[in-house]
Amino acid sequence: LEYLRKEDPEIADVIEREEERQEYGIELIASENFVSKAVMEAAGSVLTNKYAEGYPDKRYYGGCQIVDIAEKLAISRAKELFDVEYVNVQPHSGSQANMAVYIALINPGDTVMGMSLPHGGHLTHGSKVSFSGKIYNSVSYGVAAGTETIDYEEVRKIAIENKPKLIIAGASAYPRIIDFKKFREIADEVGAYFVVDMAHIAGLVATGLHPSPVPYAHVVTTTTHKTLRGPRGGMIMTNDEEIAKKINKAIFPGIQGGPLMHIIAAKAVAFKEALSDSFKEYQTQVVKNAKVLADELTKAGLRIVSGGTDNHLMLVDLTPKGLTGKAVENALVKAEITVNKNGIPFDKEKPFVTSGIRIGTPSVTTRGMKETEMVKIAELIVKVIDNIDNEDIIKEVKNEVRKLAERFPLYR
Ligand code: PLP
Repeated sequence: LEYLRKEDPEIADVIEREEERQEYGIELIASENFVSKAVMEAAGSVLTNKYAEGYPDKRYYGGCQIVDIAEKLAISRAKELFDVEYVNVQPHSGSQANMAVYIALINPGDTVMGMSLPHGGHLTHGSKVSFSGKIYNSVSYGVAAGTETIDYEEVRKIAIENKPKLIIAGASAYPRIIDFKKFREIADEVGAYFVVDMAHIAGLVATGLHPSPVPYAHVVTTTTHKTLRGPRGGMIMTNDEEIAKKINKAIFPGIQGGPLMHIIAAKAVAFKEALSDSFKEYQTQVVKNAKVLADELTKAGLRIVSGGTDNHLMLVDLTPKGLTGKAVENALVKAEITVNKNGIPFDKEKPFVTSGIRIGTPSVTTRGMKETEMVKIAELIVKVIDNIDNEDIIKEVKNEVRKLAERFPLYR
């Protein structure tokens, strides 16, 4: 931070302190990951200076001939990665990708059907506090009380009753495989577009560890920064040429101006990494690690929602321990273990308190941690949970967290 330290020591401090937090803590937030230094170099490059409204070879600014190469590479690599025909790599975020899809396919006031937020859906899937529930009429489906998994018959019933124009599948806190084929059948039955937001599982889909939505959905959206391990951003894919044209118009000039060319270049780098054999090994380990962590927490007397996990995350029900998500999140943060409080299906606590925490393994797996370390992490989490008011024990755990993190260096 040679220049930043001189120019703006306050922000230099922020970056150094955050780097230290990431380096020496245990990061278990399911939607986060650590990008490679190569991705960071592209994201921090001179490409941030370039305006490039429009699309490759059809820009509204001069001098785009070089950044065009970056966008074309990002597109062609994404096409190969997900075996899809048309890709828009310009969305600034996952939320903007979803917004563009709604704008492209339906009209204000039309009915959108998505997974409810308290059952694991995302804000942009129809929540009343998001544009998706304000501009559109939203109806939701959730998980069944017994299995805590999606009940496709119930989804079908809700779709038939409400005749949505668009059904969106995908979630922020759902630990099981999603049956995209069944969703598409339901969408076809009611004449709705079927959209999949695979933000959380994109890395698993890229490596065949979760069935791909591409053969079933009219449109697939994703973020690029979760399991996919790219820079913070979004992406939209489709196999339908007409839909692709509408989506391009919806992104620009519909809801965005100039694309972030530095981020698009960083996306291209991440997609190249994701096409490698080592990325498949990485994702395989992410899933293995999640299973071990879920098993260990179960053995220690915690309840895992739906009884386990098929992907990179799990939801832990804290009610057997008489604790809230808020209390546990706060206690774990003191020990430098980062998770987020998360509602569990049919939660009796308010969203800011919750009865659960969400735990994911993408970040710790990027550091090279495997099954042995998951057993250790479970032990540390349980130690904090069982001694939530004991500052001395939490300090002991913090020391162990530091030792563990030091054995798996991140950027240093
Ligand atoms: N879709 C899903 C399923 C998500 O989990 C998230 C973020 O957590 C998003 C979309 C939104 O992504 P962003 O935060 O980039 O807007």
